[in-house]
Amino acid sequence: MIPTYRPCIGREELDAVQSIFDSRWLGMGEVTRTFELRLEEFLGARRVVAVDRGTAALHLALDALELQAGDEVIVPSLTFVGTIQAIRLTGATPVFCEVDPATLNMAVQDALGRITDKTRVILPVHFGGLPCEMDKLLHAARMRGIRVVEDAAHAFGSRYNGRMIGTLGDLTCFSFDAIKNITCGEGGAVATDSDELANRIARRRCLGIERAIDPTDPARANWQYRVLSHGFRYHMSDINAAIGLAQLEKFPAFQRRKREIVRRYDDAFAKIEGIEPLRHDLEQTCPWAYVVKVYGNRRDAFRAHLQRHGVATLIQFIPNHLQPAFAQCRVELPVTEQLFRQIVSLPLHAEMTDADVETVIRAVHRFFDPPSRNRRRRGLTQKAEP
Ligand SMILES: *Cc1c(COP(=O)(O)O)cnc(C)c1O
Repeated sequence: MIPTYRPCIGREELDAVQSIFDSRWLGMGEVTRTFELRLEEFLGARRVVAVDRGTAALHLALDALELQAGDEVIVPSLTFVGTIQAIRLTGATPVFCEVDPATLNMAVQDALGRITDKTRVILPVHFGGLPCEMDKLLHAARMRGIRVVEDAAHAFGSRYNGRMIGTLGDLTCFSFDAIKNITCGEGGAVATDSDELANRIARRRCLGIERAIDPTDPARANWQYRVLSHGFRYHMSDINAAIGLAQLEKFPAFQRRKREIVRRYDDAFAKIEGIEPLRHDLEQTCPWAYVVKVYGNRRDAFRAHLQRHGVATLIQFIPNHLQPAFAQCRVELPVTEQLFRQIVSLPLHAEMTDADVETVIRAVHRFFDPPSRNRRRRGLTQKAEP
């Protein structure tokens, strides 16, 4: 079975973890700090704070803006549930909006139409690695004093009009879970231009503690610390950071390979009328997902067919406005609901071989141009014979 996603890890990550074991410093320390500095360089971001997962990055970003019950956050319904639970953790209300059918990104005009005097944050999700229309969104938000927090879980390493994702909105949240563009095993990060927000996030990821021990010189550590606010236990460990550092070295190769696969898929599927792949921008982005829309109410049959041919697929995602937990935020989103019946994600990961890619392509072609045409012809012949 060809998996939809798969972490690409090897000797380098194992060696990095071994060196952490040897050092006997497993928690957050020097290596996490180094990972943050490397991410700042890579993204061109002023500040990066590493945390233990993407959901924590989102929660801390929203928490740093001091959201409270009654505040509203405009967010696409079509996202991983972590995005929505992070909003709920602050007490704020998610206001679900539509997505653009060509990209599955926030439909910016629709989002702006949902602004009220309670709107504090607009939260786009850069779906599959392709950034949403940030210029339009940032301009509209700034005019109204609304903050933009980006869920860039899919968009690590992508650019928007030449600018790195991580340098655009007020706060940008990344995930480094097992199947994202790079992995730490589990991990996440918040990037921001604001020292004030970065310092707040860094403190609140560690229980609100202003300064714990100095990880670069534990022997001289001061046992005293001050607790300045509420806080969470969301710090990244050096074990995870070491994996992330090794992955960062490999990112250019991951990106090159995934772009190659997407180009091959796009060529192979261009002439099939029953499906439409989402738009990509291979000059600027690192593709994370390869989503196709299947027309004619055949998505589930398509998935079952691929499964029989050894190709695993996923549906990303179940719209959150349909989930029982968010029933009090229910709205009608006809575009999203229609897309939910059409979308399916095909395998895309950097360790796919050319043979894997051709297996997927052959299975897709066989669904739309099945050998049954021959069978039908045979059937006709048989009927004609007696
Ligand atoms: C993966 C993901 C997250 C959450 O990241 P974790 O590291 O798994 O907590 C958030 N939003 C989106 C869109 C994701 O795909």
